[in-house]
Amino acid sequence: MGSEPEVMRDKAAMRLWSRSRRSQGKTVALVPTMGFLHDGHLALIRTAHPLADLTVVSIYVNPGQFAPSEDFSTYPSDLTGDLKKLADLGIVHAVFCPSNLYDYEGGFSEMSTADRVSSAVSCIEAEDDGSGHETWIRVEKLERGLCGKSRPVFFRGVATVVAKLFNIVEPDVAIFGKKDYQQWRVICRMVRDLDYAIKIVGSEIVRESDGLAMSSRNVRLSPEERVKALSIYNSMSKAKYTALHEQTTCQEIKDIVIQMVDKAGGRIDCVEVVEQESLVAVEDIRTPVVICVAAWFGKVRLIDNMEINPCGI
Ligand code: AMP
Repeated sequence: MGSEPEVMRDKAAMRLWSRSRRSQGKTVALVPTMGFLHDGHLALIRTAHPLADLTVVSIYVNPGQFAPSEDFSTYPSDLTGDLKKLADLGIVHAVFCPSNLYDYEGGFSEMSTADRVSSAVSCIEAEDDGSGHETWIRVEKLERGLCGKSRPVFFRGVATVVAKLFNIVEPDVAIFGKKDYQQWRVICRMVRDLDYAIKIVGSEIVRESDGLAMSSRNVRLSPEERVKALSIYNSMSKAKYTALHEQTTCQEIKDIVIQMVDKAGGRIDCVEVVEQESLVAVEDIRTPVVICVAAWFGKVRLIDNMEINPCGI
C-alpha cells in the first residue's frame, strides 16, 4: 500500500469510513490499542493485514477501565510518534483516535490534555442528572479471576469499550494480543455471547531480546526495575520447564514464580495456573494451561503469561 492512513477523530467519521468501504464489499480488520505503540502492537497489525482488505488501528486510552487509584492520567502517550510508526508500516488504512468515546454531546476536541482527562473521567461517572455513561458489559465469570481480583472494574471497562469500538468500526475481524490473556478470553466470550459477527484472533506475545514482554508501561521502569522485571519471564520459563520435565503440582509451579520474583525485588499481585479457555485454576497439569503473572516493580504493574501444553498438545 505505502500511503498514509486516514486519521479519524470522531465516531461518525469512523463509522462512515467503515460503512462505505464495507458497502463496496471490502472487509475490515480492527486492531484496538491504547497507543504508545511498540513492536508488540505492530505485530498485531501484521497479523491483521492478510486477514481483511483494510486494516484499522484504534488508539484510545480508555478511562472506563481504570480505577481512580490507577495510572490513567500518567499512561504514556505519543500520538505523533504513533501515527508516524503506522504510516511507516505501510499497511494501515485508517487510524481511529477519538479524544473521548464517552462524550455523547460532542465538543471535547478543543480541550487541553488535562481537561480532557478530567472530562473523560467525569463523563463515565454516574451523574445525578442522568447524563453520564451507565451501560456496562460484564463477562461475569471470566472477569472475576486473575487480574479481576485486584482490578475489579477493569474487564467491565475493557469489554464495554471494545463493544463500543466494534459498534463504531463494524469490523469483520479483530486482533488481540495473548499478552493480555484474560482480556483476549473475555473478548472471545463477549463476542460469542452477544452474537457479534466478528472473528477474534489471538496474536502471540512479542518480547524484548532478553524475554521481557513488550508493554507501553515498560518505559516507566527505572533501569534497576527493568532488570528486576525480567524475573517474571525467567521464573515462568523455569516453571514451564519444571512442569514439562518433572512431576509437579501447580502450587510448586506457582512457588517457583513467587520466589524468583520476590527475590528479584518485585511484588507479586497474582500468580495462577489456569485452564487456557475457561481460566479456571487447576491443581495438576494434564490439559493445556497458562501461567498468568501480575507483579509490581516500583510503581509499575506488569502482566505476562506462558502457555504450557503438556505432551505437545
Ligand atoms: P494496549 O495498547 O496495551 O492496550 O495493547 C493493545 C493490544 O496489543 C492488546 O490486544 C494487547 O494484548 C496487545 N499487546 C500489547 N503488548 C503486546 C505484546 N508484547 N505482544 C503481543 N501483543 C501485545
